Amino acid sequence: MAEPQQADCIFCRIARGDIPSTSVYETDELLAFLDINPVSKGHTLVVPKAHMEALFDMPSALGGPLIEAMKRVGAALMQATGAQGLNVVQNNYPAAGQQVPHLHWHLIPRFEGDGHEAWPQGSYRDAEEMNAVAAAIRERL
Ligand code: AMP
Ligand code: ZN
Repeated sequence: MAEPQQADCIFCRIARGDIPSTSVYETDELLAFLDINPVSKGHTLVVPKAHMEALFDMPSALGGPLIEAMKRVGAALMQATGAQGLNVVQNNYPAAGQQVPHLHWHLIPRFEGDGHEAWPQGSYRDAEEMNAVAAAIRERL
């Protein structure tokens, strides 16, 4: 669940100003700063100032301000870098590649032919398997 901040969390420490970041934008609720190991130059993280681990912990009321911030910062970083595209990526839990357990969105400038391939895509065995997966999801909504 959302908590004010955690002492040992690196993004909480950045939000408190205890450790430096290369900030590009800030609101009462959100911070945007450059990723220290960018996929491409301009790669930016958008981070709630309050500590929360994953998407499921985020108050829905933050959704509007978050989208506004991502659109604003995303447009600015595309212009600043000359990017032709932008990936918005958010990892939940270590199995999905989340290294920092404080919710954040990656804004990654993309360029034609930059070679950053998407995940390999697979297939379902048949329509029955696909329908069963969809039914299992629907049952839980
Ligand atoms: P994720 O794997 O989705 O948790 O992404 C964590 C990201 O945080 C990685 O891309 C790191 O390069 C980035 N990162 C970690 N520490 C810092 C830091 N002190 N300042 C900026 N970016 C950081
Ligand atoms: Zn935190």
